Amino acid sequence: MKKQVLALVMAAVMAGSLTACGSSAADTTTAAQAATTAQAEEKKEETETETEAAGDEDGVLVMATNAEFPPYEYHDGGEIVGIDVEIAEAIAEKLGKTLEVEDIAFDSIIPEIQSGKADFGAAGMTVDEDRLKNVDFSDPYTTASQVIIVKEDSDIAGPDDLSGKYIGVQLGTTGDIYATDYEEEGSTIERYNKGFEAVQAMLQGKIDAVVIDIEPAKVFVSQNEGIKILDEALTVEEYAIAVKKGNTELLEQINGALAELKDSGELQAIIDKYISAE
Ligand code: GLN
Repeated sequence: MKKQVLALVMAAVMAGSLTACGSSAADTTTAAQAATTAQAEEKKEETETETEAAGDEDGVLVMATNAEFPPYEYHDGGEIVGIDVEIAEAIAEKLGKTLEVEDIAFDSIIPEIQSGKADFGAAGMTVDEDRLKNVDFSDPYTTASQVIIVKEDSDIAGPDDLSGKYIGVQLGTTGDIYATDYEEEGSTIERYNKGFEAVQAMLQGKIDAVVIDIEPAKVFVSQNEGIKILDEALTVEEYAIAVKKGNTELLEQINGALAELKDSGELQAIIDKYISAE
């Protein structure tokens, strides 16, 4: 890395000397600026190397998420906010790192962690047997359930009535996994990139029901007329943070931070800020 930076400085200096012969002062300034920037880069690089030696990668923790899942992660103006974002920020702070949030498709989160492009995934992600083959999960930080949203006048009154119906889900979610079981009973599963797109499709009469996590379900129902959540839930699940398989160092750090956040009441306070008690 350092060699590359040096090469850059050399190139800039050379460019500077080239333009110096009979060219404008402006060019020379640009070249000089480039050299300065390159030097600054080199300095930064040195600092980073020092931190690395102290066992701290680069001071940044990259969180992969899908910001279409209120109240856990969603867009608010230009910002990505929500329970998971605040929990991740609190963890990063405890670890002395800066949090960077990467908003990608839900089914890209695990590959992103596996490739090392993201340090962890926090996306209302349910701990699930199949996922455990590809990533490790932290201790759970909350429980959730899969619920069914239908139109208020629907003849679907519970899970058994989903047979033979058109069911909308968010692609790659546990809702998708559970709804897929109904294919054997003649149901058709429509998979959308965003949970809200499934709700819109139902409002337009394209599908009969949506299977999704309870909290986003509540948000979507509160924002739209004429739809409701059925009382009987399909499953109960636990949300946890996913890290690269075998990254026990980060996993232990996250679990330690989560335990502190639980003990101090901070975790509950973050949840309460977004979910009002019934
Ligand atoms: N809890 C669900 C899952 O893990 C949905 C998560 C999401 O859509 N962000 O698949």
